[in-house]
Amino acid sequence: MSGRRAVAVVDLGAVERNCARLASALEGGARLCAVVKADGYGHGAVECARAALAGGASWLAVATAAEAADLRAALPDARLFVMGALTPEELDVALQADADIAVWRQAFYDLVRERAGAAPAPPRLHVKWDTGMGRLGEREAGRALELLAAVSAAGDVELTGFWTHFATADEPGSEFFAEQLARFASVAPRLREEHPGLVLHAANSAATLIARASHFDMVRCGIAIYGLDPFQEDPAAHGLEPALALHSYVADVKGLEAGESAGYGRSWRAREATHVGVLPIGYGDGVRRALSNDADVLVDGARYPIVGTISMDNLTIDLGRDPIVTPGAGAVLIGALGDERILAEELARRLGTINYEITCGLSARVPREYVR
Ligand SMILES: *Cc1c(COP(=O)(O)O)cnc(C)c1O
Repeated sequence: MSGRRAVAVVDLGAVERNCARLASALEGGARLCAVVKADGYGHGAVECARAALAGGASWLAVATAAEAADLRAALPDARLFVMGALTPEELDVALQADADIAVWRQAFYDLVRERAGAAPAPPRLHVKWDTGMGRLGEREAGRALELLAAVSAAGDVELTGFWTHFATADEPGSEFFAEQLARFASVAPRLREEHPGLVLHAANSAATLIARASHFDMVRCGIAIYGLDPFQEDPAAHGLEPALALHSYVADVKGLEAGESAGYGRSWRAREATHVGVLPIGYGDGVRRALSNDADVLVDGARYPIVGTISMDNLTIDLGRDPIVTPGAGAVLIGALGDERILAEELARRLGTINYEITCGLSARVPREYVR
């Protein structure tokens, strides 16, 4: 990696193995839908989608119509599901991409019926029930089921799914999760009987990993397929392998005397004579400025602290009085090197956020390099 300014190395083999691991642990007959929205959580949507399909996923989910169109261009035969709200223009884009669509309200369903004639095939619809997330979906079971009945009775659209989303599946022991699950499960037997073939789905990664009863006919896993832990702990505990590593290199090593500083605002000063390594990566790449003086970087198998304020294009690390690191050495900001590793979960904890935001936050300036 030496000599590469900033690169996200994505191990597609890890994505494939994570999917295989998730798919093999599903309740009998349940399918795996790989969620590749937001450019595959920053990993690259198309490449990760292919790896997920190779690992046993049979559906792909995205949030937006444009994401569905991009995937369709690369994957002519994949089963796509757009989970998010759509404007009329976006609805047309999603239907042209031959994606399944979420319907959550009568008014949106009316719009789908209006546009159905222009679609290449009868729109396939998944009626969403808000069992407690408080976002899209009818809140009352009766109204969600009325919508489902209307879709089922219509000749120009196809009823494909009935679904919900959990608010607290990632909180171990959450009672609210149990309530949402019980609510959804209470209608499942009747729907199965009345609508054979209907795909019931509810689980995200967290629910998939902790509650087999949440699997129903399909699970929608995002974070876990990338080897990131929905519970913000070590992904290895669930047999998941992080797919993404963020690499840079040490562009220069320079000596500082006691009292001298590195970076804007002089937020750090050398307590004694030391050396700093300059890495040509910064918040313009997604290494958040709030990590200034509060994160480590791996170089030659050892951890070195980030010192000074992270700039847009550079950051500095403290290499100590007698550095063994020389210019050109590879640096790892996320990932493993020797026995040391820095997980996205560690950076998330330091920032008071979640691993999702760490990989989604890597900017377009960082090339993604795919390995297996
Ligand atoms: C993003 C998303 C998922 C995937 O969630 P993970 O926690 O990443 O597994 C599933 N369902 C919906 C509706 C989503 O928006």
